[in-house]
Amino acid sequence: MASITLEGLKKTYAGDVQAVKGVDLAIKDGEFVVLVGPSGCGKSTLLRMVAGLETISDGTLKIGDRVVNDLEPAERDIAMVFQNYALYPHMTVYNNLAYGLKNRGFKKPEIEERVRHAARMLEIEEFLTRKPRQLSGGQRQRVAMGRALVREPAAFLFDEPLSNLDAKLRVQMRVEIKQLQRRLKTTSLYVTHDQLEAMTLGDRLVVLNAGQIEQVGTPMEIYARP
Ligand code: ADP
Ligand code: ADP
Repeated sequence: MASITLEGLKKTYAGDVQAVKGVDLAIKDGEFVVLVGPSGCGKSTLLRMVAGLETISDGTLKIGDRVVNDLEPAERDIAMVFQNYALYPHMTVYNNLAYGLKNRGFKKPEIEERVRHAARMLEIEEFLTRKPRQLSGGQRQRVAMGRALVREPAAFLFDEPLSNLDAKLRVQMRVEIKQLQRRLKTTSLYVTHDQLEAMTLGDRLVVLNAGQIEQVGTPMEIYARP
């Protein structure tokens, strides 16, 4: 696990669209930070810069002590969970989980060990030979999390991972992510527009508005009304 440090992070898109206007944020090792704010405030841009899916216009991004501004996503030792699952439809669940490890040159016994372990944690062991289309939405989302988990990354990024699920599953998965977090103590940056998700999951919440941090605090500090 590792800390994530953002210093004066900026993103300006073509046409002088200032999506992120200088964000300073230190996410501690093992901390779960939830990024909230209105649509268009820059949440997704910020997350994608940390992931390496978007270039950084200005500022410094560190993972642990390492400046990663110019590193490819795969070199950053972080894993991202997407809302659209991003599973490979033609592969079994096992191969969906194993794929990233194979690409990284892991040997078969290590891959098998990691896949079994993640499948056990996420209770998808009995689905390992199925294809994604043979799974429910919640099961698919668990496979998507499994793909991040098997890599044992220094940090996790979540891009509204539950927003495609129905209300009941959303509640269930929220609880499961919380339990997973308690066990793994993973450094996490989690984007959502769901206040309940933010309150349940976040050690700390960051409220973004028009590309800048408006408020930082515990869920109680942010949402408690006098
Ligand atoms: P959020 O995730 O909070 O909804 P985004 O990060 O998606 O916000 O968007 C922040 C701002 O940047 C918005 O004004 C959006 O229109 C703009 N934006 C996002 N992506 C691009 C892009 N590829 N090119 C130009 N502008 C973009
Ligand atoms: P790995 O399992 O090694 O991450 P993937 O093939 O899943 O390999 O992903 C390759 C790259 O594409 C990664 O950098 C990942 O962050 C990115 N990626 C995967 N799925 C999506 C998606 N749905 N949208 C945007 N980028 C994605």
